[in-house]
Amino acid sequence: MRAVTYVKNDTVEIQDKPVPEIEPDEVLLKVGGAGLCHSDITIIGMGDDNPLIGSTLGHEVAGTIERVGDDVTGWEPGEGAIVALILCCGRCRECLAGRDNQCEVFYPRDALAPLSPGIGSPGGMADYIAVQAHHLLPLGGLDPVAAAPLADAALTPMHAINTVRDRMTGDATVVTIGLGGLGHLALQILAVTTGARIIALDTDAEKLAFAEAHGADLALPSDANAAARIMEETGGVGADVVLDFVGVQPTVDLALAVVRGGGAIRFVGLGGGHFDYAASASELPWGVNIERAYGGTRSELLEVLGLARAGKIAVEVVRYPLDDAVQAFDDLHHGRVQGRAVLVP
Ligand SMILES: [Zn+2]
Ligand SMILES: [Zn+2]
Repeated sequence: MRAVTYVKNDTVEIQDKPVPEIEPDEVLLKVGGAGLCHSDITIIGMGDDNPLIGSTLGHEVAGTIERVGDDVTGWEPGEGAIVALILCCGRCRECLAGRDNQCEVFYPRDALAPLSPGIGSPGGMADYIAVQAHHLLPLGGLDPVAAAPLADAALTPMHAINTVRDRMTGDATVVTIGLGGLGHLALQILAVTTGARIIALDTDAEKLAFAEAHGADLALPSDANAAARIMEETGGVGADVVLDFVGVQPTVDLALAVVRGGGAIRFVGLGGGHFDYAASASELPWGVNIERAYGGTRSELLEVLGLARAGKIAVEVVRYPLDDAVQAFDDLHHGRVQGRAVLVP
């Protein structure tokens, strides 16, 4: 089968690999769509000694059950399924507490990230993927191409938003930065699940037009004037919540500059920005809550699947045949994708 393989720094190629054999507790999924994420670009840029070299990429995967292992119950060939972003044991303390995106078995303290398809386990940018049946959720009629990005591009914003949902009151202001793969879904989730006033930022005019059409109360260019505009729009108080889906230095600086006292910041994008934290004296107002939000839980995946089935959120899909994967990586790397690139085998 064809498999998009990370071969060396900044380089992927389509290799021929055997169709995986399945274990008794596994399912063979015929991939219908595999989303391409900025973190795939980050991963393949981590140098030539990255242990992930040689692996098949792809952590947003949906498709159709091809074959089920002897011990698998509840799944039949022909059913549509989506693969959970984060592989979890289902039995540890974190899993049982509903924090399965922090499973202590599959996410040791010193690991780069929790185990995911395409990040430590074979990914879904291929004709087939073998996964343990308990990592699947039913698509319930959703098209696998349109649904695959829900596994991360919708799940991760849903989780970040859920961690600050108590701050999203009807009189709150939420600033969301970046309207790419995750950000364009964050905007839609904010619009349909909160009553907060939404200020959306991006550097790209087309993405700002998308924001205005999809629930932003105000769409602003992410430039040197953005902080002043947001402070003016909030009467000098600042934003209750800032969601940063970019994470470059200017957006990190912007988040710190506009969060109100007692407000919250969620840094999600992996753009390489940083900030210094001083315990005794900081530029941050008192009471600010910051979290490195990561992925989401199975129950949050159910939430985004439900919103998609109800037609309340939709991924802006840019389809690429699997054979054009190298072109898709190049387009994403150079900012030429509006929405989410999805590889279609
Ligand atoms: Zn991702
Ligand atoms: Zn666990």
